[in-house]
Amino acid sequence: MPEQLSIVEVSPRDGLQNEKTLLSTGAKVSLIEQLVDAGVRRIEAASFVHPKLVPAMADSEAVMEAVPRRDDVSYIGLVLNSRGWARAQAAGVDEVNVVASASEGFAQRNQNSSVEAIISEAEQVIAEVRQAAIPVSITITTSFGCPFDGEVDPEVVVGLAARAARAGVDEIALGDTIGVAVPTEVTRLFTAIRDEVGDGVRLRGHFHNTRNTGYANAYAALQAGVRVLDASAGGIGGCPFAPAATGNIATEDLLYLAHRMGYRTGIDLEAVTSVAAFLAGELQHDTPALLGKAGGFPPREGSTS
Ligand code: ZN
Repeated sequence: MPEQLSIVEVSPRDGLQNEKTLLSTGAKVSLIEQLVDAGVRRIEAASFVHPKLVPAMADSEAVMEAVPRRDDVSYIGLVLNSRGWARAQAAGVDEVNVVASASEGFAQRNQNSSVEAIISEAEQVIAEVRQAAIPVSITITTSFGCPFDGEVDPEVVVGLAARAARAGVDEIALGDTIGVAVPTEVTRLFTAIRDEVGDGVRLRGHFHNTRNTGYANAYAALQAGVRVLDASAGGIGGCPFAPAATGNIATEDLLYLAHRMGYRTGIDLEAVTSVAAFLAGELQHDTPALLGKAGGFPPREGSTS
């Protein structure tokens, strides 16, 4: 039996949020429809943060209103606090992802708060989402490095993961927010967190390809037993706090690697390259992904798994 790899498509949120061009609600809904048609089953579709903070996500309610609802498709809403959770619940998200920073500098600039205050709030939100019987995950941002503080102590990340696990999360994602991690660090940190939280919590990797280590990091995560990875079609995105940052690892490039390694994803590679071409048109720039340029291998076969 080939092993399953679950890919969480983050282009509608992490991708678009960091692009200069704002997409219309209709274009975002079209993007999500195309992703569903390509076989994607978990999509970070919306972000319920204050619209002044992230103008690109101000239409999250309208997006959730218009996306196709299917039992086998899960739309994830990103929240930072109880107010965001209330909005996400009202909008009918299928899953909630809470976000906590592992570094004080990022916590201050990104959420105007401290690491301790944010994880305390996250614990509260996790409890509330669990009460509503909705799956809940946490993304620990700047897990491998911070644009303001530099190195991040892995012990801090493990401590945050342990608190999230005790609060009852279904899944813990380590976010390499500014794309500084290297594979050895990925192996060490995921292994340390697995040892700390046990097998009851799924682990997920969130890698940016800012320094061309994103795919090597994804491979390291796979080798460490991680079976859920975030990616964005075309590799769109960036980070407003990190100049020259590129986006998430590209879904189609990750699919190529995963399918050729024998993992099943249920996602069609060629369909995702078409989605990336759609995004390039909407954003009016080329995307960093390579599979749309080179094509799969062997030609026209083996692209779907
Ligand atoms: Zn990200």
